[in-house]
Amino acid sequence: MGSPFLLIFYAKDSAQAKQLARQAFALVDSLNQVFSDYLPNSSLSQLNATAGSGKYVQPPAPLYEIIHIGLDARRQSRGAFNIAIGPLSIIWREAIRQKTFPSHEKIERAKKYVIERFIHLDALHRTVKLDEGMRLDLGGIAKGYVAEAVIRQLQSENISSALADAGGDIVCSAPPPGSNGWVVGINLPGAENRMLEQTALLHNAAIATSGDQYQFLEHEGKRYAHIIDPRTGYGVTFSRNVTIVANDGTTADWLATACSVLAIRRAKRLASKNKAGLLITQQKKGRLKTYRNRFMKRFLSHQ
Ligand code: AMP
Ligand code: MG
Repeated sequence: MGSPFLLIFYAKDSAQAKQLARQAFALVDSLNQVFSDYLPNSSLSQLNATAGSGKYVQPPAPLYEIIHIGLDARRQSRGAFNIAIGPLSIIWREAIRQKTFPSHEKIERAKKYVIERFIHLDALHRTVKLDEGMRLDLGGIAKGYVAEAVIRQLQSENISSALADAGGDIVCSAPPPGSNGWVVGINLPGAENRMLEQTALLHNAAIATSGDQYQFLEHEGKRYAHIIDPRTGYGVTFSRNVTIVANDGTTADWLATACSVLAIRRAKRLASKNKAGLLITQQKKGRLKTYRNRFMKRFLSHQ
C-alpha cells in the first residue's frame, strides 16, 4: 500500500498475540493483492485491463464492495471524490516523481476519461463494466477499508482493544486497558513533524488525515498536491490538512480525500451529513487557519 502498516492490540499472551498478528498481516497482504494499482496482477489491475472490452466482469467481493462505496462517495461529494481518477493520478504521480510539470493538453485528455466515462455496476450479479480508457485508483479509500477489515477480524477473535494504522488511516476498537481511549496526534500542513497542540481521544472509531506533506510538486511558486481536483485535472494547491473522525475506516478515508478538494463550507456540510468530525488546518498568507465542524469538538482534548 506504499506505507508502513502499524498494529497495536492487547491479547492474553504472546503466543496468541503472535498468531493473531500474523493472521492480521496476512489479511493486509491479501487485500493489497486486491486493491493495489502498483501490482500488475492485482484484482484491480485485472479489472482495469478489461476497460473498453464491453464485458461485465465479476471482481472479488471486497473490490465490488469498495467500488460500490466509491460511487456513493462520488455522488455525495458531487464528483470531488472519484475512484475513476486513475488516468490523472498516473500523470501526477509521474510528475511528482520526476519533478516536471505536466502539459495542459495531457491533463485535458486524461480528464475526459475521468469525468465523461462511466463505471457500470450490475447489482444483481455483482459485476462491473468499465468504459474504454478508464482506470480505477483506490488510493483515496482502500487504506481505511483495510484498517477497518483488520480491526473487524481481531474482534471476531475476541480482541476488543486494538488499533490499526495503515499510514494515516487509523481504525481503533475499545480503549487500551485502564484508559479512556487511544490518543492520536494530528499533523499540521507544510511540515512532516509539526503537530496540532490538541490531540484526539478515540475508541470504536476511525480517524484519517489527508494532506500534502509527503507528496507534492512545486511549480511557479505553487505547491500541487497528489490529491487531484477531478473538475480541473490539477493537483489541489491549498496547503491543507484534513482530518476526519468517522464510525468506520472506509468512510473516514474517502471523506478526508474528498474534503481536501472541496471548498471549506462544502467540506463541512459533507462531513456533517455523514455525522463525521472534520478538522481542517490550512496555510493562508503565512498564517495557519483552523476550521472544524460541530462533530469534531468532542474528540479533541481541551488544552
Ligand atoms: P489520501 O491520502 O487518502 O487522501 O489519498 C490520496 C490518493 O487518492 C492519491 O494518491 C490518489 O491515488 C487518489 N486520489 C487523488 N485525487 C483523488 C480524488 N479527487 N478522488 C479520489 N481519489 C483521489
Ligand atoms: Mg483518503
